[in-house]
Amino acid sequence: MDVYGLVGNPVGHSLSPPMHESAYDELEIDARYVTFEPEEIGPAIEGAQALGIDGLNVTIPFKENALSHVEPDSLAERIGAVNTIDFSDSSAPTGHNTDAEGARRAFEHHDVSRDGKSAAVVGAGGAARAIAFMLADDGATVRIANRTVARAESLADDVPSASAHGLDALEELVPKADLLVNATSVGMEDDVSPVPTAALHGDLAVMDAVYRPLETRLLREAADCGATTIDGAWMLLFQGVAAFEIWTGFPAPVERMDAALRRRL
Ligand code: NAP
Repeated sequence: MDVYGLVGNPVGHSLSPPMHESAYDELEIDARYVTFEPEEIGPAIEGAQALGIDGLNVTIPFKENALSHVEPDSLAERIGAVNTIDFSDSSAPTGHNTDAEGARRAFEHHDVSRDGKSAAVVGAGGAARAIAFMLADDGATVRIANRTVARAESLADDVPSASAHGLDALEELVPKADLLVNATSVGMEDDVSPVPTAALHGDLAVMDAVYRPLETRLLREAADCGATTIDGAWMLLFQGVAAFEIWTGFPAPVERMDAALRRRL
């Protein structure tokens, strides 16, 4: 039996086990997906390799620290974070960042192109880093707006041709943008949006990384203006799809994984 898992703290409410196990069921793969809450990531990765675990996803608070315990691919290295570890190469575990690929496939699934587009990214944490690199790599001009401007500046220094702003700049940036992504946690706890309602318009494609709730206030207001909306479950789904494909080499059963995920949201 193959064993995959998720390391993070906390991981109790993770949707990854049912999502991945639905794919094993669909393709009749003899595998399990389990969760771990270690104190430290280094010994956890070493232990997983020693035990013959096949693959791990990594989540908060270990994504950045995991980087120094694996051989990262170039994208994970540039982003500075790893969310997928593959143990199939016996010499060293390899590290990948499928959050970026998850956001890319979420846009693609909704037929939203990035090349030549103007993108406003709200946030400068882990999710924003992955999304900003993906947008720039796909040819968008990226404007990063964050509550803590110094953090936006630091991310904009790393992302090709990106600029940094405070949240107050959204009033001017969003009316000129084609793509808008919320990569902050705003909208999770309370029914609030990080973007002024008046700045939204019908030509936007709006993605929210928040997936609990699925319909955030930002997405509701964007839909009301006629914008294309992409909820956070799409990025979550496709980061899992990309991890599954790295680990198994099989095309993932996307519809089955999507159903397993959305049934629980
Ligand atoms: P993080 O690294 O902790 O970053 C949090 C971000 O939210 C920072 O930019 C922070 O701004 C901002 N923020 C927090 N509270 C705020 C407030 N009250 N007002 C304005 N900005 C605020 O977290 P993360 O890992 O990037 O996650 C961010 C969100 O994305 C979470 O909701 C997470 O669940 C979601 N996410 C979704 C996926 C997916 O697959 N759909 C993947 C990863 C993350 P400061 O820098 O000023 O603190």
